[in-house]
Amino acid sequence: MAREVLSQARDLGVEEVVVTGGEPLLHPQAVDIVEEAKGMGFQVNLLTNGLGIERGLARRLASACDQITISLDSADPAIHDRHRGGGSHGRASRAIAALSEVGCPHVVAAGVLTRHNQHERYENFAAHATGLGAERVFRAVYILQGDSRDAALRPDFTSLVVRMGEESDAALHGAQPRGERPRLAWRDRCGAAFGVVAVGADGVVYPCQGLMRPEFAAGSLREEPLERIYTQAPVLTKLRAITVADIPACSHCAYRFLCGGGCRALAYNVTRDITAPIPEEYCVLAQLLAQWRLWETALSELPVTAGLEVIP
Ligand code: SF4
Repeated sequence: MAREVLSQARDLGVEEVVVTGGEPLLHPQAVDIVEEAKGMGFQVNLLTNGLGIERGLARRLASACDQITISLDSADPAIHDRHRGGGSHGRASRAIAALSEVGCPHVVAAGVLTRHNQHERYENFAAHATGLGAERVFRAVYILQGDSRDAALRPDFTSLVVRMGEESDAALHGAQPRGERPRLAWRDRCGAAFGVVAVGADGVVYPCQGLMRPEFAAGSLREEPLERIYTQAPVLTKLRAITVADIPACSHCAYRFLCGGGCRALAYNVTRDITAPIPEEYCVLAQLLAQWRLWETALSELPVTAGLEVIP
């Protein structure tokens, strides 16, 4: 079935395949699927916890993937293992090192920022990951799930915002104007269903990985082609049409065309309304990150603010 889905995706003009989970390497044909995708000409990005990657598998994956993203939440094993289970930090670290040693084109260390690791300085985290061989490092703020996990993982936004402000001030001090200025990307909506879909292991199509809920099931690839689901499924066409102008709290925001109104999965998780604004604390972060992107456009050699790369 994977080959047929990939073939349909290629005919639709899809350029990139992201293989993720759960943990994708638990699937018995995961590596075959990755190799199939690469052989069909897709850009392949594998997102994995790295626990099963030893040197032999690393070599095979490195030749089949354009990028491998390993989940790594901290330089501190205790913090990472608290998130992901005992012993997982060492195995994820070894996976990064093994992939780097066998020449994987791009190895990325990606963490989730929660109340447990938000005080860790980005420099320390980045030094650990790049020392292992990661080419790029980032952390994304924990997305509220609207369930019992939130109380344990929700960051303390006040201290996070204060620290980002301090780091921004320090980084901007003495920064020099750019000679050539890259264009900022225009963003007027969330990416869910807008050039992106997620396909579950059972062939059901959803708007994105964050909205893999029964109420967002757009159709099954066992019953209809991807092209028809993508272009005609009501749940996808409705979601695709929601722009920042349709979110009352955002429609006049100065940052709306940099932010796009925020992640619809986050808004839905906490309100059960797909057109609701994202929680206020995430909006504050989005504004800070939008400001940072403006500064990056104007100034050279700025570090990543607090290691945050994904606008919530
Ligand atoms: S920064 Fe906040 S108010 Fe502005 S568009 Fe983004 S989520 Fe909406």
